[in-house]
This record gives sequence, C-alpha cells and structure tokens, in this order.
Amino acid sequence: MDLEIVRRALARGPCSLGELISRIEELTGEKVSPMRLKRLLLRERPKWLGVDIRLRRSRSRRPRCPVCGAKMMEVLGRTVEGEIEALYLRCPRCGFETLIHDRKTPARYLFYLLPENLPVNENVK
Ligand SMILES: [Zn+2]
Repeated sequence: MDLEIVRRALARGPCSLGELISRIEELTGEKVSPMRLKRLLLRERPKWLGVDIRLRRSRSRRPRCPVCGAKMMEVLGRTVEGEIEALYLRCPRCGFETLIHDRKTPARYLFYLLPENLPVNENVK
C-alpha cells in the first residue's frame, strides 16, 4: 500500500475510513482491508495526514488509543467563545494525539490532509 495513493485520495477532501477505501479502490483498482489501512495510517502517521476520532456521547467512557490501546486523556482548552472544553485527546503512553471533531460527523474516524505549510516543531523538544 503506497502512502502517496492515500494522499491523492485525500486531496478530494476529508473522509471517513470507508470512503477512503472506496477512493483508493477507484484510483488503484485494489481493495484494501479497513483494519489494515487504519493500522498502517496510524502507525506511519505521515506529516500531511490529519486523523480525528469521534468521541462517544458519554464523557465517562474515554476512547482507547488506536495505536497502543491505552486510555486517552482529554486535553482542555479555551474555545473561540471563551468556554473551557475538551479540544483534543492525547495518549499518555505513546503520545498519539487527535482532535475531537464535530459529533455530527457520522464517521468514527475522519482522515484529511493537513496544510502543506503547517509549522512543524520537531526540533523543539
Ligand atoms: Zn497510545
């Protein structure tokens, strides 16, 4: 599975895992397994890839990290309206982070391309 194909598939806009699979099939004629694709993307985490995971409605059940299986922590921040709210999830074990996206989006996972010129703070640690 070539990551460049995934990138081309996502160039059409954000999509769920299922939609991503049908776009890849359209581009390559190949059908990939959802589990395999998901694992690959979460493990490789190319710089251009954004992944959002939908939170369950109940706040008491925090989702598990898709990479290592540890329970993820909600990271609080201030919204534009000035309210304190959980903005993203971080895995305390492996550091995987994901935005908490719009609950109206029906997908469990939402994949999208990050802007090319997003500043990367890799040297600051
Ligand atoms: Zn983890």
